[in-house]
Amino acid sequence: MKIGLEIHVALPTKSKLFCGCSTEQVDTPNINICPICMGFPGSKPSLNEEAIILAKSIANILNCKIRDKISFVRKVYFYPDLPKSFQITQLQESIGYEGLIIIDKGKRINIRRIQIEEDPAKIIRSEEYSLLDFNRSGIPLVEIVTEPDITSEEELTSFIFTLKARLYYLGIDIDREIKADLNISLGKERVEVKNVTGTKNLLEAARYEIERQTELISRGIEPTKETRSYDEKERKTKASREKESDEEYGYIYEPDLPEYNIKNYSIRETVDPIEKAKELAEKHAYNPKIILEAIAFDRYALDLIERNEEKYNFNSLMQAIMEIKRFKIDNIDDLSLKMLLEEIEGGFQIDKDTISSIIKHEKVKHSDFSQEGIDNGIREFIEKNPDILRRYIKNKKLADYVAGEIIKRYKAKPKEVLKRTIEILNSMTGQK
Ligand SMILES: [Zn+2]
Repeated sequence: MKIGLEIHVALPTKSKLFCGCSTEQVDTPNINICPICMGFPGSKPSLNEEAIILAKSIANILNCKIRDKISFVRKVYFYPDLPKSFQITQLQESIGYEGLIIIDKGKRINIRRIQIEEDPAKIIRSEEYSLLDFNRSGIPLVEIVTEPDITSEEELTSFIFTLKARLYYLGIDIDREIKADLNISLGKERVEVKNVTGTKNLLEAARYEIERQTELISRGIEPTKETRSYDEKERKTKASREKESDEEYGYIYEPDLPEYNIKNYSIRETVDPIEKAKELAEKHAYNPKIILEAIAFDRYALDLIERNEEKYNFNSLMQAIMEIKRFKIDNIDDLSLKMLLEEIEGGFQIDKDTISSIIKHEKVKHSDFSQEGIDNGIREFIEKNPDILRRYIKNKKLADYVAGEIIKRYKAKPKEVLKRTIEILNSMTGQK
C-alpha cells in the first residue's frame, strides 16, 4: 500500500498574500476584497513578508532544504472561483524541497516539496445558482506534498498527528482548515481522492478507500486509475465526474512578481512537542506517550510542566496537569497548584467541588466518614444491589465499579476504598 498526500494549510497572516486585505473570516461575504484579490485587470500584486516567514518556518520544521531564491508562476485554468483565470503558485523554485518528518516507531516520511500559493474564492452552491465569496480569495496557503511513503492507516494517523502538533507550536491550527488530496494505491494504478476537508474526513476517506481497493483486489479486479471525491454525508469516496487529474494545466511565469531573495528572512524557532515529550520522559522516567498527549496541542500544559518539574514529584505533577486539563482550568496560580498536588498525593478524589475550593484557596472539605462509616457504606450499597455478589464471583473487576460509587459519595481516598471493597466482597462471597 502506498499513500501520498498534498495538504493545503492556510497561513494565519493578518493580510492576504498579495494585497493588504484582511484575512479575517467574517460572515458577510465580499467585504475583505480589493482589485488585486478580485483579479481585476491592471492590478499588481505585492508579496506579504509575513507569509514568507511562516512558509520558511514550515519548511524548517519539515526539515526541508530551503531555497534562497523563490519565484512564482501562474497556473492557468478556467473556473468561477478564479475570475482572472489563473492561480499564483510555485513550480520549479518552490520555497522548500526534500524534507523529512519522522513519525511513530521511527518511520520516515519524505516531503517532496512545499510551495506557497493563493487560495481561490469560495463557491457557495445552491440548487439554482452559485454564489462567489472573495473574502477567502488571496489568503496565503502552503501546500505540503509528501512522497508516497505512508504504508498503512496507522502511519497515516501518526503522520497527521505529528504534522498537526508541529504546526500547532508554530501557531497554525489545521484541524478545521486542512484541505488535502489523497493518493492511495493498493494495486498498480494510482487512485486520487481530491479536496477532502478536515483531518477526520481525511482519515475516513483513506479507511474507505483501503477497504474498497482491498475488496476489488480480493475478487481479482485491478483498481483503475481515477479521481474520486469524498462524500461526507455517506462517508464514502465516489468516482468524480470532473476528470481533473487528466487535465493538463498550463503554467507560465508570473510577470508581475520578480524572483525574490529570501535568504535574510527569519525563521520562527518552535518547540518540537514530540522531542520535548521524549526529553521529559527520559529525565523523569515517565511514559512519553502520556506526556505527548498532554502537551501536543496545549502550550499551557507544557509551560506548567517546565515551570514546576523541579519543584514537585513528577508523577503527581503529571496527574495534576491531567486534572487541570479535565476541568479546563486555563490559569492556575502557584498556591492552587500546590493545594491540588496535596490532594493528589493524599490520594483523594478530585471533583468539581475540590477544584472550585482549590481555585478559591479554600480548604478542601473531606467527608469525615470513619473507616467504619465507609465500610457500612460499601455493605449498604451491596445490599441494595444484591446482583453484585453473584456477578462478582465471575468478574472480580466489579470491585472497581463498587469502589467508584463509594468514592463518589464519600470523596474518600480511592486506594483505601478499593482495598476495603475487595475485602468486603470477598468475605461476603466467601472468597479469598
Ligand atoms: Zn485584496
